[in-house]
Amino acid sequence: MATSSLQAIRGMNDVLPADTGVWRYIEQSLGDILLAYGYREIRTPVVEKTELFKRSIGEVTDIVEKEMYTFDDRNGDNLALRPEGTASCVRAVLQSGLINQGVQRLWYAGAMFRRERPQKGRYRQFHQIGSEVFGLSGPDIDAEMIMMTNRFWQKLGIENVRLHINSLGNLESRSRYREALVTYLERHIGKLDNDSRRRLHTNPLRILDSKHPDVRVVVESAPCLTEYLDESSRQHFQGLCDRLDAVGISYVLDDKLVRGLDYYSDTVFEWTTDSLGAQGTVCAGGRYDGLVSQLGGQPMPAVGFALGIERLTEMLPDIQAERSPHIYFVGVGDAVQVALYRLSERLRSDIPGLRMIVNCGGGSFKSQFKKADKSGATVALVLGERELHEHNIVVKFLRRDAPQEMVSYDQLAGRMTEILNIRERPKVVASDAEVCNNRQASV
Ligand code: ATP
Ligand code: MG
Repeated sequence: MATSSLQAIRGMNDVLPADTGVWRYIEQSLGDILLAYGYREIRTPVVEKTELFKRSIGEVTDIVEKEMYTFDDRNGDNLALRPEGTASCVRAVLQSGLINQGVQRLWYAGAMFRRERPQKGRYRQFHQIGSEVFGLSGPDIDAEMIMMTNRFWQKLGIENVRLHINSLGNLESRSRYREALVTYLERHIGKLDNDSRRRLHTNPLRILDSKHPDVRVVVESAPCLTEYLDESSRQHFQGLCDRLDAVGISYVLDDKLVRGLDYYSDTVFEWTTDSLGAQGTVCAGGRYDGLVSQLGGQPMPAVGFALGIERLTEMLPDIQAERSPHIYFVGVGDAVQVALYRLSERLRSDIPGLRMIVNCGGGSFKSQFKKADKSGATVALVLGERELHEHNIVVKFLRRDAPQEMVSYDQLAGRMTEILNIRERPKVVASDAEVCNNRQASV
C-alpha cells in the first residue's frame, strides 16, 4: 500500500488490467456503431479557457458554480479541466471552420473532470463517449441519435434501461413558462431548500431537477412545461415521438426532465436504469440550437448526447473481456535465447492477431511452465537446446489433455493457426477486407 501522500486523488481512479478489457469492449463496440451511423471522431484538449465553460454551460449551474477544476496559467489565463465535451466540441468546429462545411456528425471519447462528492457512479475524473451533430434542425436527427444509443445497449446486452424524453421548447415559450413557474414556486417558498431558493430567480427550471424530498413534493404540482410549447416545438416533439414509435423504441414522457445545463432547447432525453442505485442516468442529451451563436458563430442547430463509461462498466460486471494469450513461449538455455526471438518475431508477423508472451528473465523449464500455466495461454511452445539443434519446436497443450507435438520451424505458423483457430486480423484490415469481399460478392 502506498503512503497516503502517494495515493491517487480522491474520486480519480486507476483502471487496472483486470478491468481494462471491459472498457475496451465498450469503447470498441460503441465506436463501431458510431462509425456505422456515419459519425466521425474528434479529439479536443483536456484543458480549455474557463470562460468557454462559463459561457456555454451557464454561470448558475452546479458545474460552473462549484465543480470545475480551474487554475491560473503562468501567463495569467484562467484555465479549466474540461467538465464535459460539448463546449470544447463547439469551440473546435468554430475554430477549424468545420461548422461551415455542411452537416457534421461527430463523436468524442475522453476524461472529464468535476469536483463532485465521490460515490458509486460519481467520480471526479470520469469518462464519457459523446456525440454532437451540427447543421440539422429537424426531429429526424434527434430520433437517429436515440436509435443509435438504443443500439448501444442492444450491442452491450444491457436490457434494464429506460428512455425519458421531454421538450423544453424554444427560448420564448421557456421564458413564458419560467414566469409561471417562478410565480408558483414563490407561493411555496417555505418548502424550498436553500439551493432552490437561490435558484428561484437565476435558474428556476433547475428546481424541477431537485432531488430534495420536500422540493420534489412542491414540484409535483408545478405548472407543466409541455403546456407552454408553441406549435413548432410541439410538431418537432411529435415528429420525434412518431419516429421512435415507428422503430419500436418505447419511452416515458417526462415533463420534469430539464437537464442540468443551460444550453438545451426543444428535445431533451435521458437513458436511466434502476440497477445502479442513486446514479441511475447512463446517457443524457438534447438539442442546443442556441449554443453555437452564443459562442460567437452563426446560428446553427445542434444536438448531442454523452454517456458515462464508468456507469456502463458497472452494469456489465459479468463480461470477461480480458483475453488470455494464445501462446506462452518457453526457452531454456543460453544458446536458445537468440533463436527464441527470431522465431517468435516471425510468428507474430505470420499470424496477425496472435497473442503471445515470450518468457523473459530465464528460469528452469519448471518455473517457466508455471508461468505459462498462470498466464492462461492455450499452448506452450518449447524451445530447448535439442530442439534448436533439430530446428523443431515442441507444442504442449495447457488447457486440454492432448499429446504434445513436435513441429518444424517452417511448419510452425501453419500448425499454430490450425490449433488456435485464429481468425482475427488487425482491425482496419479486417473491415477493409470485408468491404472488398462484399464488393466482389455483389459484382
Ligand atoms: P447526473 O444527473 O448523474 O449528475 P449529469 O446530468 O451531470 O448527470 P451529464 O453532464 O449530462 O450528466 O453527463 C452525461 C453522463 O455522464 C451522465 O449521464 C453520466 O452517465 C456521466 N456522468 C456525469 N457526471 C459523472 C460523474 N461525476 N461520474 C461519473 N459519471 C458521470
Ligand atoms: Mg451532474
